Amino acid sequence: MSNVNLIYSDVFRLNHSPRVRHPENPGRMRRALTGLARHGLKSFINWYLPIEGEIDEVLKVHAKGYVDYVKDLLNKAPCDIDPDTYISSTTLNALKYSIGTAINYALKAYNDRGMYFAILRPPGHHAGRGGKALGALTQGFCIFNNIALAAFSLIERGVSGILIIDFDAHHGNGTQEIFYETDQVMLIDIHQDPRTLYPFTGRINEIGLGRGEGYNINIVLPPLSGDDVLSLWFNTITDLAKQYSPEVVLVSAGFDGFANDGLTELRYTVKAFYGLSKLISSLNKPTFIVLEGGYGIGLEEGLPAFVAALASMEEPMVGGGSRTPPGILSEAMSIHRETIAILSKYWRVK
Ligand SMILES: [Zn+2]
Repeated sequence: MSNVNLIYSDVFRLNHSPRVRHPENPGRMRRALTGLARHGLKSFINWYLPIEGEIDEVLKVHAKGYVDYVKDLLNKAPCDIDPDTYISSTTLNALKYSIGTAINYALKAYNDRGMYFAILRPPGHHAGRGGKALGALTQGFCIFNNIALAAFSLIERGVSGILIIDFDAHHGNGTQEIFYETDQVMLIDIHQDPRTLYPFTGRINEIGLGRGEGYNINIVLPPLSGDDVLSLWFNTITDLAKQYSPEVVLVSAGFDGFANDGLTELRYTVKAFYGLSKLISSLNKPTFIVLEGGYGIGLEEGLPAFVAALASMEEPMVGGGSRTPPGILSEAMSIHRETIAILSKYWRVK
């Protein structure tokens, strides 16, 4: 067994609070911490503190007009960016520490050849260069794109070949938009069928453009997909990652695909998150992981399973996993075949 490096402080639990009931709230941090304690993981964790950054550092990722707009809203707080995305009087604090953490720990992971997982909020993968991404109606709780910020910090240092794996149940439309035309980043985004879920993008034929063609990979799971459907993809993901051969792996870790987490119709159990974690570890690259979604049981059960696998713990909490209804399973297999046919133009996959 080995220790896991987690980055957290109460700056993420005490700041950025909604005025009305909202799934993205400070209680998420308590759920994650309680889950880690309940599963006996606390003794396997090396805790690191978040690092404070500056708002202007997001100009690496976001358009100046958007950054100025957010600064203005931060001054007017409490207010809303859109019907899904709020800004409170303490949001600035949470944002500064998310920014500094994303930038500095991505570099630290690279320099140390280590693995670090930042448990922070608000999430980021729906934030595009100018806010709403790819025509989405809202920013889906996200203000600045943490994983994109991590990637750009590495690119600035001359790192080329960054693999981003996004397993939040929603499509990371912001991240896709930002890296759609580059081969410096390969994005593998696993999500519920976008015909059935916000942000309604992330189809299998959205493959990238120009130099980026073939480097944007959407893995689509029908609603009610369980662990068995996800595992259909593990070999494909590993094949893609190995051929791309990145210098660094970045992960947008969302736990909202856990059955009954609340916002999606995926049906993962702990087995899915344990398996994803094993897959990521097996790539054996410097890795920086940032929390995206997960609102209930996903944080209490899925996140600890993910951390347990990072700690090379046995599979004490993993049962047989969830089985997908036969009709849905065959739909998932047909999407898998179609996707492989598209990807075969660029990669050796099966
Ligand atoms: Zn999500």
